[in-house]
Amino acid sequence: MDEQIELKYIGYARKSSEDNREQQAASLPDQVIALEDLRKRHNLKIVDVLQESKSAHKPGREIFNSMLDRIEKGEANAIASWHVNRLARNMVDGGRVIQLMDEGKLLEIKTPSRTLHNTPDDKFMLVLEFGMSKKDSDDKSIVVVRGLGGKARDGWRPGVAPQGYLNDKGTESGLRKIYTDKERMPYVKKIFELFHGGTSAVELHRITDKDWHFKTRQHKRSGGKPLSLSMIYSILNNPFYCGRFEYPLGSGQWYDGSHEKAVSEEVFNEIQMKLGGKSQYKLKHNDFAFNALMRCGLCDSGIVAEQKWQCICSSCKTKFSITQKNKDTCTGCGTLIENMKTPKILHYIYYRCGRKKNPNCKQKAVRVEALEKLIDEKLSKVDISPLFMDWAIRQIHKMNEENKNFEEDTFEGIKRAHNDCRIKLNNLLQLKISPSNADGSMLSDEQYKAQKGALESELKGIEKQLGNFDEQMLQSNNDTARLFTFVARAKARFALPDTKVKRDIFMGLGLHLTLADGIVGYDSPKYIKTLEVMRKEAPIIAERVAPEKEVELRAQFEEKYASIPTVLRSKESHLV
Ligand SMILES: [Zn+2]
Ligand SMILES: [Zn+2]
Repeated sequence: MDEQIELKYIGYARKSSEDNREQQAASLPDQVIALEDLRKRHNLKIVDVLQESKSAHKPGREIFNSMLDRIEKGEANAIASWHVNRLARNMVDGGRVIQLMDEGKLLEIKTPSRTLHNTPDDKFMLVLEFGMSKKDSDDKSIVVVRGLGGKARDGWRPGVAPQGYLNDKGTESGLRKIYTDKERMPYVKKIFELFHGGTSAVELHRITDKDWHFKTRQHKRSGGKPLSLSMIYSILNNPFYCGRFEYPLGSGQWYDGSHEKAVSEEVFNEIQMKLGGKSQYKLKHNDFAFNALMRCGLCDSGIVAEQKWQCICSSCKTKFSITQKNKDTCTGCGTLIENMKTPKILHYIYYRCGRKKNPNCKQKAVRVEALEKLIDEKLSKVDISPLFMDWAIRQIHKMNEENKNFEEDTFEGIKRAHNDCRIKLNNLLQLKISPSNADGSMLSDEQYKAQKGALESELKGIEKQLGNFDEQMLQSNNDTARLFTFVARAKARFALPDTKVKRDIFMGLGLHLTLADGIVGYDSPKYIKTLEVMRKEAPIIAERVAPEKEVELRAQFEEKYASIPTVLRSKESHLV
């Protein structure tokens, strides 16, 4: 970093009072005291200290945003905080922090245990930190948060279960699960299947009653009757059946349910397109995995996600757009999609230049499949076997063990110095108050004051050293394990149909993502590059083997490892 630039910090403290996932965080006053300590210890120039009592799990904190605005304007170029996770626990806010670093407007983030600069490696750590702390808190919420909101977060929708499901009546109300109604679920699934295959709703109405003798679930005063036509429609457009639900209704808060799905999300979405105006369910697509993460390689505008829905009419073969809601008739022959025998529904997601900076940008759009293939190829280059991950983490622990001896000696030294200092202080006091010093001939008031002051500030310094010691060691161990776990499972996790996971992995691969001519450009952290080299030189680290071959492979690691310019050993690397 350029030594010439003076760092001007904004201190930021945050603790949410409502969010009980935040119990481990220090109180606001304690965070402010820690910032004051930090200022004194490093002689920082802090232009302002901001405090906020909001949760950081959802984007949109006022004070946090105002801080970033001020950094954007150049009022400050660094942030001091109690912990990195005070800044962001979601990728939207985290992304803004990182963008300011990319633009050179934010040069440093300082906490009591670490200092992060705007280098690719440090930014990479931040991405993991913001993304993972979200993951951490998601995991914790399963344990900690209960009650209705907590139940929704666990994937169990509160309220009466729709046809095909049963409410769990046994456990206490906040914990009730939703079970599959074994008697009715097969029919519900068949309803989706038939409609998707071209059977009309009216025909389904007849089939459920006359052919299947389907009866609704019996309640005290209702139920036990055939499905009405409107009930068939409300089954067909209820997203609960594809595993998604909104709670509370109309809140815009969507959850992934833990109940059995009756239909895949893909088929469900196609059915909504067929239903057109009859679909109550507005397709939610604010969750495109790679939206607003890349910049255009030609004009630097943000890359945005877009989707297209099309239908090929089964009577006249006209292909027409149904992206707009309520478009439910063929533009060629006027047939309602619902009445077509076998309409073909096409769905494309692609990424294109938002053209904010240059309205005439010629950057070509890229289909999501092509983008995912690129990312998967990149992941293949750093994919390591779980066995290698285990082994590497053990190696790191071993090295840490060796380091620890050294560190323990240092630690002992500091503790001794601490003790000595206190003894000296005590002796000084004894001398001061001893009868032989009654006239101050051995130790005058001035001498006492000066010596006491010197010893006390020494003691304070030592105490700080002691305090940092544990944190730093813990931090570096955590970083190492975290990075390895991230890479080892990235390729497999990326294949899962989970947009949040895909997004985190994409960001973890590198920073400063650009899209040009269908190629994604990265500013890869050193760590990723080193892994690529390692894999080239020792392909066995990506090998997955049967358990009985493990011993053999482990021996091979030992052998190869000696010849690799390894990340494991480099002091500068993140892995140590
Ligand atoms: Zn462009
Ligand atoms: Zn037609």
